Amino acid sequence: MAEVKVRNVSLAYGATKALDDVSLDFPDGELFGLLGPSGSGKTTLLRVIAGFVYPDSGSVTIGGEPVERVPVEKREIGMMFQSYALFPNMTVADNIGFGLKVRRVASQELKRRVGEALDLVQLQGLGGRKPHELSGGQRQRVALARAIVTRPRVLLLDEPLSALDKALRVEMQVELKRIQREVGITTVFVTHDQEEALTLSDRIGILRAGALVQAGSPRDLYHRPSDRFTASFLGEVNFFEGKPEREGLRLAGGALLPWPMVPGEHAKPILGVRPEEMTISVVQPEKSSDLCILRGEMAEPVFSGPTAMCRVRVEGLLCKVLVKNSELAAIPSSGPVWVSWRIARSMPLAP
Ligand code: ADP
Repeated sequence: MAEVKVRNVSLAYGATKALDDVSLDFPDGELFGLLGPSGSGKTTLLRVIAGFVYPDSGSVTIGGEPVERVPVEKREIGMMFQSYALFPNMTVADNIGFGLKVRRVASQELKRRVGEALDLVQLQGLGGRKPHELSGGQRQRVALARAIVTRPRVLLLDEPLSALDKALRVEMQVELKRIQREVGITTVFVTHDQEEALTLSDRIGILRAGALVQAGSPRDLYHRPSDRFTASFLGEVNFFEGKPEREGLRLAGGALLPWPMVPGEHAKPILGVRPEEMTISVVQPEKSSDLCILRGEMAEPVFSGPTAMCRVRVEGLLCKVLVKNSELAAIPSSGPVWVSWRIARSMPLAP
């Protein structure tokens, strides 16, 4: 187990800056999610940590030691990539034990550790099967066991669950988190799925065009994104744009949205509000110093299971408001309404 530190790492492929001055700490024993759109540099950062590629500049330390001159196989890293090919002709146990065999671990010890790994991923009794005799989820567990069995200091997972269907993916997310907690290995996983990152990670780093945009806990990033990109990347959000004034943000239509109590955030040209923070009411809510209230005009509600995403025209903007289906009966499908939210829930954003 070890902390990984990346400092000022840049790497270009021709004119493409795959990584642009990235500095990030991956704390010891934590599950860290790297999130970003396709091509933002996530895989490249994993490959730099693993040692498959060397950065043009910057440094990487694992457990406090610089690894510039340490080859891949000496970095004590466990890996599971998107196309985690198992050896088709080997049994599950032989697949898992392969890395130990290469390291010349004695056969009794090897057997014991493979048994432990099978227990950990809950595949007891399936060690004698061939990969084609397993389900997709079980194969994924074998790949994970294989990555962990050598007791690496760091575990790197590149889109580990993207090949699974939705239900299985959610099940494996829970499993992955349990296993990571149990072994306590510093883990970095790459995903382009914001929900997966928010569910799994202790901390998240968001990459865009090779640069780190923001890093923090899922809660922090979701509720306190620094800019428009991060806010929208982590979920639905309504953007109110205007002119920053001392008291609040002046919208083009004249309304003033008061600033939330965030020190030093009073000059941002955008306020973001998440749909689940907003309330629709037919009667005007009572004025209150902690409430933002705007007139709106109902557009159609959109059903999506237990909740409905309603559209309300507010200040020239088609706002999304999340409403429980049980509360939908009280809301008209057209006509004037009021939209309100707690001022503290407005998020000041850079463009
Ligand atoms: P992500 O994992 O976020 O999808 P990558 O790290 O794979 O992004 O890629 C970042 C950028 O670097 C992309 O523009 C990609 O096309 C480019 N890139 C990655 N690997 C190579 C390579 N081996 N040769 C040339 N360009 C590459």
